[in-house]
Order: sequence, then C-alpha cells, then structure tokens
Amino acid sequence: MTPTITYSLKNDQSHADQYYRDIAAFADQAIAEGDARAAITLRAFEAFLRATERETIRSRAEYLYEFLTLGVLWRVYIRNACELGALPRRALTILSRVRERNQRLKPMADALRGVLTSWFLSPRPRAETSAPRSLEMLERLLGWLQATGDFNQEVKRLNNWRDFFATQTPEQIAAHLSSALAFADWFEARSVDVLGCYTPNVEKFLRETHPRYRGREDALFCGRQRVEYHLNMLGTEILNRALRASFLQTRRKIVVVPPCMRAQPDAKCQARATMFGAQCAACTPGCRIHQLTLLGEKQGFGVFILPDELKTFSGKTTGADDSLGIVGVSCVLTNAPGGWEMQTLGVPAQGLPLDYCGCRYHWHRDGIPTDIGFGQLLRLLEIRVPEQH
Ligand code: SF4
Repeated sequence: MTPTITYSLKNDQSHADQYYRDIAAFADQAIAEGDARAAITLRAFEAFLRATERETIRSRAEYLYEFLTLGVLWRVYIRNACELGALPRRALTILSRVRERNQRLKPMADALRGVLTSWFLSPRPRAETSAPRSLEMLERLLGWLQATGDFNQEVKRLNNWRDFFATQTPEQIAAHLSSALAFADWFEARSVDVLGCYTPNVEKFLRETHPRYRGREDALFCGRQRVEYHLNMLGTEILNRALRASFLQTRRKIVVVPPCMRAQPDAKCQARATMFGAQCAACTPGCRIHQLTLLGEKQGFGVFILPDELKTFSGKTTGADDSLGIVGVSCVLTNAPGGWEMQTLGVPAQGLPLDYCGCRYHWHRDGIPTDIGFGQLLRLLEIRVPEQH
C-alpha cells in the first residue's frame, strides 16, 4: 500500500470517491455557515467591488472562501507576521520575485531563501489571535505572506479585502476581522471532523519529519498546518463550482498533470516537449500518465505534463481563447491557488487534487509516483463510461 506522507484522499479505500462526496457536502455546509455568519461583511465587500469597478462580480461562495482564507491565514501566521522586521521582509520579497522571474538565478535565490526562511519565516506551532484586529496588522500579514513567495494568489485576492477595509472605520474593521476569525475557528474544528480522515499524518509529519527541512527553500510549503490542507480542499471544490459552466462550454479539453505522476524519474522518462507541456511517449505500460493518455485518446481529451508556467495556457499565448478547457492536477496544497491563477488568466478550468503527495522535490527522498482517480476525472469532463481506477 502507498504510504500516506501527509494526506490521502483514498483513506485506505481503493479510490477517492467517498472523499468527493464528503467535500461536496462539506462545501454546502461551509457556504451556508459562512453566509449566516458574514452576510453583512460580504454584502459590503461586494458593494465596494461594484463601486470601484475593480472586477466583474464573482459568486458569493468565492468571496466567502476568500474571507475564510483571511481568517485561517491570520490564525496560522499572524504571530510570524508580527515578528518579521521590515528589512528581512524586503529581502525575502525581492528573492521571491527573483526566483519567479529569472530561471538562471533561481538556484541561488532558493539557497538564500532557504537560509532566510529558517531564520525569519519558520511557522509557529500554534496560532496567535491576540494581535489587534486592525488594518495595520492586516497589512503586516499581507507583507509576510508576500515575502514568503508561497502565497501569491492569496495575496492578490486579499489585497482587495485590504483596500475594502481601508474604507471602513476602525470599529468596522475590528468587527469584520473578528467575524473572519470566528468563521476560521468554526472551520478548523468542523473540518477536522469531516475531512480529518483524509489528512491523518499531517501533524505527525510536522512533528517528526519537518524539523529536518530547516534551511530548505520549501520548508514553509511543507510545513503547512492541517487546517490549510482542509482550506485548500474546500477551495478546489468552490472554484470548480464557480468555473464549471465556462469549462463545460469549451470545445477541446486537456488534462495537465504534474511530473510526479510518472513511473520513471526525469532522466528516464521519454516524454516529448510540446508548447502545452511534455507528452507521454509510452515507455512504461504501468505508468499512470501513459494509462491516462490512452484513456484520453479513446475519450477525446489531451494529456500534458505540467509546464513550468501556467501562463502557457492563457488565450494570449496560445490563441486558444475560450475553446480550450483545462483540468489542472496538482497536490491539495497547490490546487486551489492554481485555480485562482487560471481564473486570472481567463482559462476555463477545473481542479483535480492528487490522491496523495509523494514527489521527490518536496515529500519523499526517492519519490513515490502519485495518482488521481480516473472516475472523478471523467465526472469533471462529463464523460459517462464505467469508472476506472
Ligand atoms: S510512460 Fe510516458 S510519462 Fe510515463 S515515464 Fe514513460 S514517457 Fe514518461
């Protein structure tokens, strides 16, 4: 049996179908709970967006998810944000930009970030909520999140919230933040009840394995708390609902999978580069990407191994406009931010989380080939055939 490093959507079953039923039911519950708790704040935020015309109004559930993200990230990281000085914050922010924009300098930036991350950004064992609920504190949190380079999509969304708060009185800001924190408290407790069976080893990993990540560039990413896994699970479900109609209207569909699904390591995989990412060359019959490619040939969708840049899929780059729909496969922690990025690029997309994590870059010395439920993929694509796993 595949070892569970932190999470497994299969929960000891042969497939993840129960997870998809559970996350759908839990999303309904979380949306109803958030609406009941934060309707006034959400209405005021939407009115602000309309008045400032900064974006086309999206669904209430998406704003609710952003509001919950604010509460959860505040609970997990506000103490770190309070402790980070202006100088290291600036240095870390510059290094994150360098690694994003310059592939040649990325190894050097990563090495430096590894050292600085272990000095300045190490996650604290427990959330601290006694920080003043003020605009200044929110700006400190956003500054910290930006400095990490791991929360770019979250920061983009939360910047709108910061600007909205700037139009409010200190009392109103405190009330909005208190509401976000109370919702995050509810979410943390309830999500463990419903989704905890899918994240059984996160705390063990943080306790026993994560201390050895000190000095590594990915220490923060691999140090995510259990509640953040649950938050991202909810995010994928909510974004999939929001983007579903535009995705289903597209004429061509492709599935973009991460390299960690390959049966062979980089040097042995024979996949050939294309403009959308690498395409499988069928070197290993048991490889899941090969099997998925065969399924795609039969059912009419393409399969590509993830390119470094999601921008590859924007209409501007490909000329594909809205005729191309993408199913993005990635681990639970990156899937919802990937959905936000696709939305920003104007690409109709659906997210499909890996059943478990295992790549050798982050999680396992030798790498464990990862997997997805083909049944859930076919449901996302609205292809009705007997389920395969
Ligand atoms: S079967 Fe395809 S994806 Fe898998 S290792 Fe071979 S070429 Fe790479």
